[in-house]
Amino acid sequence: FDVFVYVDNSNPYNRPKSVIHNFTVIQEAAKKSGFRFKVVSHPSEREKEVVPKYKDVTRRPPADPSKLVRRPPVVTIMGHVDHGKTTLLDSLRNTRVVDSEFGGITQHIGAFSVVLPSSKDRVTFLDTPGHAAFTAMRARGADSTDIVVLVVAADDGVMEQTVESIRMAKEANVPIIVAINKIDKPKADVDYTRKMLLTQGIELEEFGGDIQSVPISALKGTNLKTLIEAIALQAEIMDLKAEPTGYMEGVVIESKTDPGRGKLSTALVQRGTLRKGCILVAGTAWAKVRAMFDDTGRPLTEAPPATPVEILGWRELPSAGDEIIEVESERVAQEVLKYRMDKQREEKLENAKEVIAQKAAEHHKVYRTTLEERRRLGWYRVRRTGPREKESKETDGHPELNIIVKGDVDGSVEAILDVLDTYDDEKRCKLSLIHYGVGQVTENDLELASTFDSLVYTFNLDTPKKTKDLAKQKSVLVKPHNVIYKLVDDIKDEISKMLPLKK
Ligand code: GDP
Repeated sequence: FDVFVYVDNSNPYNRPKSVIHNFTVIQEAAKKSGFRFKVVSHPSEREKEVVPKYKDVTRRPPADPSKLVRRPPVVTIMGHVDHGKTTLLDSLRNTRVVDSEFGGITQHIGAFSVVLPSSKDRVTFLDTPGHAAFTAMRARGADSTDIVVLVVAADDGVMEQTVESIRMAKEANVPIIVAINKIDKPKADVDYTRKMLLTQGIELEEFGGDIQSVPISALKGTNLKTLIEAIALQAEIMDLKAEPTGYMEGVVIESKTDPGRGKLSTALVQRGTLRKGCILVAGTAWAKVRAMFDDTGRPLTEAPPATPVEILGWRELPSAGDEIIEVESERVAQEVLKYRMDKQREEKLENAKEVIAQKAAEHHKVYRTTLEERRRLGWYRVRRTGPREKESKETDGHPELNIIVKGDVDGSVEAILDVLDTYDDEKRCKLSLIHYGVGQVTENDLELASTFDSLVYTFNLDTPKKTKDLAKQKSVLVKPHNVIYKLVDDIKDEISKMLPLKK
């Protein structure tokens, strides 16, 4: 069970309404969040808390610099809607030389690599444009992007999402390369676009800054090679390196279930080299790598850092953005998963506890206000209007029952008022609390009762003979009770007496 509710059942009759209501609130909250729950009457029945017994696995500490080798940059394409991000990705994908032996079908696996034939420089592009992908990755702490290519349409210039992309890249400390797109259009104005970018703090090389810009036509494929060269140059400046040995570490780019091939995910290898047979954990999923493919569908035997690779062999589907870590054995993978699932459960439980505590607090505020607060808030105002004629007691054709409640202590009066708060049959009979208070019935109470033709309910009180006589004299009915639910039942009886008989 995820939630336990402790209820003091010792005295069911005098159990304050608020406990019952609290319970209902908890029950609803538990149901809504999909938790199993159990009501127990004594804390000794409380079951053991979930304590993780297993170990987690995390990335290894920074590598020994001597083990590092150069790796390709990973690029995300960002920019304003309709400025050509998707078109640019399509054109770049098509520049790859696809081996005809593997059908030559370009598959979308979430990332792809482009190799410059001249320099053999390789650039890996994340195949999902825009903010969402960038933010999703970052939100999970997977800073997989080295460089942002900012696409700005030369016929439109800097727009809202251009500014947003700049802000995000700067916040993430990721360098920008500007692709000034749609230069094939007659209305394209590259110079004007550059000046607009300057106003956004993008100091282009043309103006003495260090940010490269490349005028391109994503649609016509103009200058794509120059753009890739610019990226390769930026990568060289950044001196991107990775450790190709040791356990593999990476990030999930995309996940899907293929009807023919089963559970697949595209991973970006960030450290180590991925090979067939490796045991991987990602989130609460694990895999024994059965087969690997590159972005052109070609089978791979190994995948070094910054390589996007499609992995077969997942038992469950990992989520995009999940960190992938290789472990030594299936047994360790199971342990890690158990640890993480226990932890997830605990976190869910914590959240549920918070929700419930919050609900209970709200509830407490509403229902457990003290009498003093109720008075201050004017919850129950003693009516200042004059006495009514007997005939006018029926308001809008609905009968009305007036009552005064007096109890021995604040707590009991509050409990009774709690129950009265839940009365919701106003349509059939109005229930008016004329007055309430702690202590014996006074002359003033009787005066009020007589004026408003009200019943007087007392709880745990002895009414002196003198008061009883006075009540009789004023034709006021004083009804004593010692059990809350009986008092409430009595009120219900009185209400039903006022309702017209059913035909
Ligand atoms: P996204 O919303 O940034 O992904 O933009 P799209 O790639 O979907 O492009 C929006 C529109 O601009 C499409 O109709 C593209 O055909 C067009 N487009 C993209 N790049 C170019 C270009 O270089 N030249 C011209 N003329 N049109 C382009």
